[in-house]
Amino acid sequence: MKIDGNHAEIRAAWASDPGPVMQMFINGEWVDSSSGARFPCFDPYAEQAWGSVPEATAEDVDAAVRAAHDAFDGPWRSTSPAARFALLRKLGQLIEENAELLACTQVRENGKGYAEMRGGVNSLASDCHFFGAMAETHHGYTVQPSLPHFTAYTRREPMGVIAAITPWNTPLGLLGWKLFPALAAGNTIVIKPSEVTPISTLILGQLMDRAGFPKGVVNIVTGAGPVGQALVAHRLVDKIAFTGSTGTGAAIGKIAAERHARVSLELGGKSPNIVFDDADLDAALRGIVAGIFAASGQSCNAGSRVLVQKGVFDEVVRGLVDKAAGMRFGDPLDPATEIGPLASKAQLAKVTSYFEVATQEGMKPATGGMCPNRPGLFVAPTVFASPPLTSRLVREEIFGPVVMVIPFEDEADAVRIANDTPYGLASGVWTRDLARAHRMIEKIRAGVVWVNTYRMGSHAMPFGGYKASGIGREMGIDALDQYTEVKSVWINTAGPADGGAS
Ligand code: ADP
Repeated sequence: MKIDGNHAEIRAAWASDPGPVMQMFINGEWVDSSSGARFPCFDPYAEQAWGSVPEATAEDVDAAVRAAHDAFDGPWRSTSPAARFALLRKLGQLIEENAELLACTQVRENGKGYAEMRGGVNSLASDCHFFGAMAETHHGYTVQPSLPHFTAYTRREPMGVIAAITPWNTPLGLLGWKLFPALAAGNTIVIKPSEVTPISTLILGQLMDRAGFPKGVVNIVTGAGPVGQALVAHRLVDKIAFTGSTGTGAAIGKIAAERHARVSLELGGKSPNIVFDDADLDAALRGIVAGIFAASGQSCNAGSRVLVQKGVFDEVVRGLVDKAAGMRFGDPLDPATEIGPLASKAQLAKVTSYFEVATQEGMKPATGGMCPNRPGLFVAPTVFASPPLTSRLVREEIFGPVVMVIPFEDEADAVRIANDTPYGLASGVWTRDLARAHRMIEKIRAGVVWVNTYRMGSHAMPFGGYKASGIGREMGIDALDQYTEVKSVWINTAGPADGGAS
């Protein structure tokens, strides 16, 4: 499958395609739900059902967790780092060979643009290779304690069974951030993809099966929130790695805390993208548009609050409104499309409900604020200028193509507004003044600061949030720390001449 130039042909072929009828992956077997129940998936551009997956029961979840537990206690425990690296290298190759299928499946499931999803699959493969290599390079360290006759060192040991619960906006990318470091470190895993986008994860599961991971090391159960809940509550799950909404993250954290399970949470954001009057405004505008309208704003790191210094405020608002109003709606498979549909009817309802809130709060958009009159789950790119800072649209994560443009006076004002949020995931700073950039980097309370760019990422760089945006970091060398326990080892080296040590 190759998209360039013939997306219309692919779309026509897809029109009559009922989609795959998938099974879950438990203990090395492809299985249906023990209840026989299934549910359909949905193509948000064509607005039609596409494919189906099993609705897991509590028994299925239990079987998957037990399989992962037994696999961890079995030979997987003593698998060498080199052997884990070899398996992940094989998987990375299979991802590369199947990149078009993985990208297009995600486009069908969530309506995100082909270019972003295809680029995301390239990253998925490189993430897999990166973490595979780390299986052999992630170590503890030796210590020379200030005590006579002891030597001491630390070991990094796998935690056990990881439950990975993932969202619909970047189904495979956000799974890879959990799956690859978890396996590289020697854990086993039970994956619960979003009920909106389960098919791409099951296809990745087929590739893992082909790569030759031993049975039970990787398991995939499908279903909605209750399936995730059953996983979180299972006493044999040692750690929950979650990406999703802040509310669900808090609920998971509570349950996990009761039984002392580990968690890493990657949650919501209301990230400030800050433009100073000395910035390259053309570049800043491109960054603002990419920051909020790419993927129709359905990214946790979306730059949904644009802070603009007063001297250039009107110019930036004018430029942004022009760009937003001129964006091309269309088929997410078409490389010329600039704004695709939202992923689901539920998300469309959530985003448009904020337009009602805006009306109740007496706010009017400078552009957008409605659904274009065309098929598909589209929302017009929307700009609100100078909203009150108390507005719900300024304070809450909308997860749609809706941006609040807020004026500020000076650096101190920008810092105050930027940090006046429960969230702290990402941020952008646009300025030509290097010293100012450094001052802002220091003062912004967020897990990422982009200077004169926005939404850059690499497997070599950690990602995660301050405050309500989460706990822990994914990616980078920090990621393997999150999937290992530290063991401190003390060895008494005293000989008979030392009179023994205690
Ligand atoms: P979104 O609003 O992006 O769908 P959610 O946080 O509701 O975000 O969903 C993210 C993932 O969490 C999905 O896989 C979903 O099925 C799962 N999920 C939803 N509710 C729960 C819950 N109470 N416990 C565990 N997982 C859940």
